[in-house]
Amino acid sequence: MWIKEEQILMKEQANYTNLCASLRLFEDKVGLMRLKGRFANSSLEYEEQHPVILRSKDSSYFTRLIILEAHEATMHHGIETTLARIRRNYWIVKGRKSVKEVIRKCVICTRYQGQPVRAPSSPDLPEYRVDHMAYAFQFTGLDFAGPLFIKDGSKSKKCYILLLTCASSRAIHLELVPDMSIHGFLRGFKRFVSRRGVPELVISDNFKTFRSSEVKKFMLLQGVRQRFILPASPWWGGFYERLVRTVKACLKKALGKAFVTFEELQTILCDIEVAVNNRPLAYVSEDDLDEALTPFHLMYGRSVSTGKQFRSVDCVAISSLDSRKQRLWHLRKVLKDFWKRFRTNYLNELRQTNLYRKVKSNNDNNITVDDVVLIKDDEPAPRTQWRIGRVLELRLIPFEIRDKSTINSANDVDAEEDSENDEVPKGIVVQDDVINARPKRKAAVEGQAMRRIREQYT
Ligand SMILES: [Zn+2]
Repeated sequence: MWIKEEQILMKEQANYTNLCASLRLFEDKVGLMRLKGRFANSSLEYEEQHPVILRSKDSSYFTRLIILEAHEATMHHGIETTLARIRRNYWIVKGRKSVKEVIRKCVICTRYQGQPVRAPSSPDLPEYRVDHMAYAFQFTGLDFAGPLFIKDGSKSKKCYILLLTCASSRAIHLELVPDMSIHGFLRGFKRFVSRRGVPELVISDNFKTFRSSEVKKFMLLQGVRQRFILPASPWWGGFYERLVRTVKACLKKALGKAFVTFEELQTILCDIEVAVNNRPLAYVSEDDLDEALTPFHLMYGRSVSTGKQFRSVDCVAISSLDSRKQRLWHLRKVLKDFWKRFRTNYLNELRQTNLYRKVKSNNDNNITVDDVVLIKDDEPAPRTQWRIGRVLELRLIPFEIRDKSTINSANDVDAEEDSENDEVPKGIVVQDDVINARPKRKAAVEGQAMRRIREQYT
């Protein structure tokens, strides 16, 4: 009956006559419109030879149900299998497209095969990344890397690298520390401060050492501001995480299988530090006559070579006070020029990379409010056990790192929303703060709703 009604509705469509001609439709004994097809002489069943015509999924809810039924009957197989199954009995107008769209919204398939939510397009870079008048290490990002295993007598011992990154010049400073404790960190940080100067701002993740009261007190006494990235969103600290990767790669290649002592590792780290700080910041073209701009240029106004050659330019005989002052002005000017070059070359290139990324990932996989998402926690767990959440609110947070108080208040706001919302479907856990919980997989809300409606019908 339902099929007949569907077909009556189809006959009212504007393109029905076209369809009739192209698919060679005919009416069977019971009054159903069927496809003539070309298999009259085959041994196929009557239904397969002459499938019943149905409207496309967009115009018919019935078609949707047929597709879903076939999809489930094929144990959530892909488009081809589902389509083949449907064509045993029915011919759907724009069949492949319809099946594709329905499968894309299948909750179960999305749960197991869904792609991660696309990261939002790159926001504006924070001022500490682009402030060209800053000196090196004025804004410093810090993180631990490791553990590394070192030789301690006949035993092996763990140690960690404290990596400090200048946010604008991208220079690095590496400190080898025996552990990630407060005292280990503070000693490493003090060594850094003595050699590179006191930073104005320190950016780090929410690791308990960085948040401890001793560290906070020390920073306060030194006049260093501390900022923490949003919990569970390590991409906020991308500028130092990227260099952690570089350092790790260098270390892996330099060490190989070698088992070294603390002191030997420290030496290797210094070599890596120099190598990384000597890397060109911007693309070096063939007809570039200038020396490549490196983090060392922004720190000292010259490159630092570890080789044997001695550059006479770096050594100037200075006799009088006046000429010393002149030399000082000269050096300052050189440094200023390098920061100027940094602005024109490097920042320009930074802008281009951002544009490129935007174009490359231009799909509509954007997360929106009320989307049902699977949440991948930090603890490794199989996908079946990931929690389901619903996006309560999307917040456009400028690339400004919030301190703890605002995060707390944000949680409070969401908690209030939770209690007000009674219409949450069963089985869907509403997260306190989906942004904090790092949304990972998008399950289509529509698919969920569809399934619920279908359950009501059956
Ligand atoms: Zn499925």
